[in-house]
Formats: sequence, structure tokens, C-alpha cells
Amino acid sequence: MPEVSLVGVSKSFDSIIAVEDFTLKIEDGEYVTFLGPSGCGKTTVLKMVAGLHEPDRGEIWIGKNPARGIPPEDRNVGYVFQNILLFPHMDVLGNVTYGPRVKDWPPQKTTELAHEILALAGLSARSKSLPKELSGGMQQKAAVSRALISGASLLLLDEPLAALDAKVRAELRNELKRIVKELGLTAIHVTHDQEEALAISDKIVVMKKGRIVEVGTPEEVYLNPKNIFTANFIGEANFLEGKAVSGGDKWEIEIARGLKIATCNEVPAGDRLVIAVRPEHIVIDKGQRKERNVFDGKIEDVRFLGGLVRFEIKIENNLLLAVKAPFASFEKFPQIDDQMTISFDPSRVLVYKYPERGMASELALE
Ligand code: ATP
Repeated sequence: MPEVSLVGVSKSFDSIIAVEDFTLKIEDGEYVTFLGPSGCGKTTVLKMVAGLHEPDRGEIWIGKNPARGIPPEDRNVGYVFQNILLFPHMDVLGNVTYGPRVKDWPPQKTTELAHEILALAGLSARSKSLPKELSGGMQQKAAVSRALISGASLLLLDEPLAALDAKVRAELRNELKRIVKELGLTAIHVTHDQEEALAISDKIVVMKKGRIVEVGTPEEVYLNPKNIFTANFIGEANFLEGKAVSGGDKWEIEIARGLKIATCNEVPAGDRLVIAVRPEHIVIDKGQRKERNVFDGKIEDVRFLGGLVRFEIKIENNLLLAVKAPFASFEKFPQIDDQMTISFDPSRVLVYKYPERGMASELALE
């Protein structure tokens, strides 16, 4: 099974820089997602790995071999698109065996293999169905089966779930991961859905404007993002600006006159900083008052999100903080204008240098 390396890869289309200096190593057997806003270059990287575009600069290696000049059909990759491209007049078995038939594989071996793959994809019972007789999720499973039959050991998935409704999407993403792991494949999965990326990835590559912002496991990019962009793009974060103030081994950031936030990160006094706190890491106080990062406030907005409730709470200096708490944690449901005490642990306070180009540019998606 292949590892994939991209070294200094760039690609432009006339004046549009789609991918810039992209360097990444994907280990053999890894399930990697490219996550980023629309137009950040995810598909272009995937197409370069597939051989549908050649890089302008840089090199791609699939296994031990440089990929430049090797046509897509000889790269041993399977490609699954967002739009499910099945032949409408062929049944599932016909679609899955189409490639091998064109390549004159022995018919019996091809059919046996197709049945094995369809069993793995949970589609055995539908091998005689036409695409129009299948649900969207089943159609995409047929497309994945078709990509796998050629023996591809690298699976490229371009927004494979985007056309499906939410429930099918959640089921199929687990199925995809299971198939990839059972067959020991390497997978690159492009998505702009952060929940999807968190749920299935061994490693997430966060992208913006053709470049890699950071790479990490789902836990790393969610709990300890290295960049403000990632903290904002994955999940939600309250951002506050301030200055580090000294205090021995206590590190605090003053976000307004006299209003200090404690952090576990060492911050040099005087530095201009941005802190981020996730709404779900802020606790609504139930009488067990802590010493640090405790604020009284008033509820300005309440949104019921299902399992969670999202509040906007105004604390001193008119600072508005988003807070998310499990619905089940309330005996009496809080209302707008209720007074609340909120707190968060200093270990939950993420600290960043104030970005040179300003916050708006740092958070911009394009
Ligand atoms: P999305 O999530 O919307 O699919 P993406 O992150 O996959 O976006 P790409 O499709 O890789 O982004 O596009 C990156 C940039 O390159 C965009 O500005 C896009 O318009 C441009 N681009 C991509 N393919 C071409 C092409 N064949 N010709 C011209 N410009 C292109």
C-alpha cells in the first residue's frame, strides 16, 4: 500500500494560484482529510495526485515512485466524485465491472471480485438494481465499489458525501472509513464539512488559499489548534484581544481595564495577544465557584440546538461570550435576561500572537 508525498507542489490556472508550496506526507494506510473553505485548492491537490493535473512546480510521490508523467490509469488510484457518476442503463454489477471488462479481465474472476467488493460495501442484495432504483447513499457505495475493483490501493474521495442528506451522510462516512481500513487502503478525502473531518480522519489537513494552515489529528486541531484560522474554522470559538500581564508563575491576559483571563500558557508580559475559548468549554456555574476566570453576566440570546443549548452571555465591559451547555444539564431552562455566572478553566484558554495582518484577514475564508 502506498504512502503519498507532496513536496513543494504549486499549481496555477492563468492568474489564479490554486495551490502554493504544498508539502505533506501521508502515511501508508492513513485516512487523511483535506478540510478548508470553498476554493482553497483541495480538489486541485487531489487531481494532481490522481494525475488529472500536473503540478507547475514540486513533486508528488506515490509509494516509491515519482508520479510526474504517469497517466491517471497507471497510478493505481481510485477516484470517487461528489456527483455520483454511474451509467444509468447498467445495473450495479454492470457498473462495478465496467472497468475490468473494458480492460478484458477474465469475466469469471471479475464477477467474483465484484461480488466480494459489493459484499464489503453492503450492496450484495442490490447487484441487479439500476442506479435510479437505489438511494443516494447506495449509489455512492456502488461508485466506491467501482473505484475499488481495479485493485487501487489509494482511494481519492472528492466530497463523496456532499450530495447526500445528513443522516445518510453520517452513516456512509463510517462505512467509508470501515471499507478503507478493512482493505488496508490509503485514503485522501476532501471535504468542507468539519464535523465529517473530525469524525473519520486519522489526520486532518487544514487548508486556506491554496496553502496548508496546519496538520493534526482531530483531537489536536480541535482541542489545541495552532492557528486562529483553525480555531475558528473547526468548531466555534470566542476570540478576545488583550495584553499579557506579568505575575510570577501566573499567566494572565488583560482584555479590558481590570478584566483578566488566566491561562496555563506562559505569556511574556506586554505581548499583544488573542485568546480563544470554545463555547462548550465555558461552564454555567451551579454554585461551585472557582477562583479564576469566573464572570457574572446576563443572557442576551438563547438557541436550542438539540442536545446542546447555545447562549450569548454579556459579561462586564459589554463583552459577549457564546456558551454551549447540554440541554440535560438544566433543571429549569434559562431565559433571556436571566443572570448567570460562567467560568472556564485556564487550561481551556488558547493563546495566540496578535496576527500581523489583523484579525479580519486571519479569519477570512478567501
Ligand atoms: P470547493 O470546495 O468549492 O470544491 P476547492 O477547495 O476544492 O473548492 P479547487 O476546486 O481546488 O478548490 O479550486 C481552487 C482554485 O482554483 C479556485 O479559485 C478555482 O476557481 C480555481 N480552479 C480550479 N480548477 C480550475 C480550472 N480547471 N481552471 C481555472 N481555475 C480553476
